[in-house]
Amino acid sequence: MTQPSAAPIRFVLFQPSHPGNIGAAARAIKVMGYHELVLVKPEQQHPQAESRARSSNARDVLLNARVTETLAEAVADCGLVFGASARRRRLNWPEYNPRQCAAEAIHAAATKPVAIVFGNEQAGLTNDELNLCNGLVYIPTDAEYSSLNLASAVQVLAYECRVAEDIPDPRPEPESPNASSEDIELFYSHFEQVIVNSGFLNPDNPRNLMRRVRRLFNRVHLDENELNIMRGILSSVDPAKRVEPRD
Ligand code: SAH
Repeated sequence: MTQPSAAPIRFVLFQPSHPGNIGAAARAIKVMGYHELVLVKPEQQHPQAESRARSSNARDVLLNARVTETLAEAVADCGLVFGASARRRRLNWPEYNPRQCAAEAIHAAATKPVAIVFGNEQAGLTNDELNLCNGLVYIPTDAEYSSLNLASAVQVLAYECRVAEDIPDPRPEPESPNASSEDIELFYSHFEQVIVNSGFLNPDNPRNLMRRVRRLFNRVHLDENELNIMRGILSSVDPAKRVEPRD
């Protein structure tokens, strides 16, 4: 008998186009003990008869699925976000295999929800969605044919998370929980504003600078204390806030 799972792992489908896949994804997560399904801008209104049919006994997960307009909203309270991608990317985001991803997810889920984000059936995830992810997870496949069906990819990741729940993790609980995705986004806006104010970033020619800054901080998973320190440092060096010494 499997145990009911408690870890708050959230499965997020970004702009899914086939209702059948949404139903099959609900089933794939429930059978592994998870319940949180979020749909970001599904192409068809949710739920459809086909998604109900494909969800089988996971209709509760399907009907409780939250629908959001943006990915940022879907993951705002998460302390760690993975993007599942069938393709390797130019910008060299940290890569995990499903087993490593699941171990990190279960560890981080002790303090905040963790999201695994899946892309649209045709387009996958774009760089804008990857900007919100701490890392990418690739399911190893045949070199010539690397794209799984969406619900199959969800099944593989949900299964790995389920297995990881039973593997003892010798790491101690973190001193401070990971900062939430929402707070990290506020930090990036603050960072960008300060480097525009300082003249380091030309807003008319930003190139890839903020993407690289995101990659750097996403890789280290700032915790809440570290984030507060960074915000304090930014405020202290912001030229726009500097008080001119009096004569
Ligand atoms: N044509 C798209 C593939 C979409 S498949 C592309 O090239 O990106 C739909 C989603 O399933 C993907 O966005 C991804 O989240 C997931 N997926 C499919 N195959 C995967 C793989 N090998 N590893 C990780 N995720 C995968």
